[in-house]
Amino acid sequence: MSDWSVLSSVAERVAHLRNLVPPSVRTIAVSKTVPSSLMREAYAAGIRDFGESRLQEAILKQQELADLSDIAWHFIGHLQSNKAKQALQHFQWIHSVDSLAIAQRLDLLAAELQVSPQICLQVKLKPDPNKFGWTAPELLEQLPLLQPLQHLRIQGLMTILPLGLSPAEQLETFQSVRDLAQTIRQHPDTPLPLTELSMGMSSDYALAVRAGTTMIRPGRILFGERKEIALSQPAQPSDSDPA
Ligand SMILES: *Cc1c(COP(=O)(O)O)cnc(C)c1O
Repeated sequence: MSDWSVLSSVAERVAHLRNLVPPSVRTIAVSKTVPSSLMREAYAAGIRDFGESRLQEAILKQQELADLSDIAWHFIGHLQSNKAKQALQHFQWIHSVDSLAIAQRLDLLAAELQVSPQICLQVKLKPDPNKFGWTAPELLEQLPLLQPLQHLRIQGLMTILPLGLSPAEQLETFQSVRDLAQTIRQHPDTPLPLTELSMGMSSDYALAVRAGTTMIRPGRILFGERKEIALSQPAQPSDSDPA
């Protein structure tokens, strides 16, 4: 990622990335901890999709950027059930639906709010105690319970790789996610039309593109290193989310 640091402006970084990624791949600029002034620069350079992982921070910046009415907002952080309603009110996409319980709650609330959010199911195909999400067998087993959730537009699979994989393992894991999406599309009993893959961050987006991702989620290569480390780390998985 070192060659990115010589590019001094967000506009240059957006343009550089555009040259490296096929036009069919949607770039979700991950703007957690990034001030709205820099997001405005990214918007001016053509970015229309922003990814945020903290609700309060995102809502504040949405107010600051309210004049940019064609932004699509993507929630990418772990969603606690007591925040689900706010997420539906403020985001068109939720990439990080990581359990049956939260999917069912979102479906219920979406009906109430009369919205039909686009969502991705978050999977982890390598063991990772620090990440949320379904393993492949868990997801296949729960498909019959996900399929009836009529108010969710379940568009694809999302993944975050664990740290410490070699590039070959990273590529292979992205390919496994792609293959899992195909398996689910073609499932004989409970298919879901999963056409999207949300994979690839600053350090691994090129491999995700090679594996056929449709959306990438770069942050630091566009906006620079984040200062508040605490905000970039997901909380420990826990079953104790307040309902
Ligand atoms: C922070 C984050 C990103 C962006 O990470 P970078 O390393 O800054 O590119 C992408 N996806 C998720 C889910 C994140 O939390």
